[in-house]
Amino acid sequence: MTIAQHKVATLHYTVVDVASGETIDSSEGGQPMTYLHGAQNIIPGLEQALEGKNVGDAFDVTIEPADAYGEYSEDRIQQVPVQAFEGVEQVEPGMAFTAQTEHGPVNLIVTEVNDDIVTVDANHPLAGKALAFSIKVEAVRDASEEELAHGHVHGEGGHQH
Ligand code: ZN
Repeated sequence: MTIAQHKVATLHYTVVDVASGETIDSSEGGQPMTYLHGAQNIIPGLEQALEGKNVGDAFDVTIEPADAYGEYSEDRIQQVPVQAFEGVEQVEPGMAFTAQTEHGPVNLIVTEVNDDIVTVDANHPLAGKALAFSIKVEAVRDASEEELAHGHVHGEGGHQH
């Protein structure tokens, strides 16, 4: 079976930061990843690279930031008063928070604390990075009606609900 719209694919993957050569994540030796194709469950560049692949296919693909987690944007760095972190005993660089905004929840990382001013970065941790994936397609099946309605995979490797 071939990966196409409304198929559920199971993959083993390793992803490397092209610039540093560092392995970011790998499913080797663990559970493979399962996703619903064509539902934007994974980054666009990877979904595109998987289109038309078959069970047993193994390939490498490098994905530029725009087709991965986006370009790094200085506009997404903000300085906020420490008072905004009500209930946090001590705000420190490296802390992660979720802020509620008019566009929905946004994940923030604290990058700097200067007296009463906290610098937060809303860029995805992998923004601006080209990513090199090694992929092996383990399985492909049809999605169920329910999975298509929900826009994600159920059962093994997916949502349990
Ligand atoms: Zn569901």
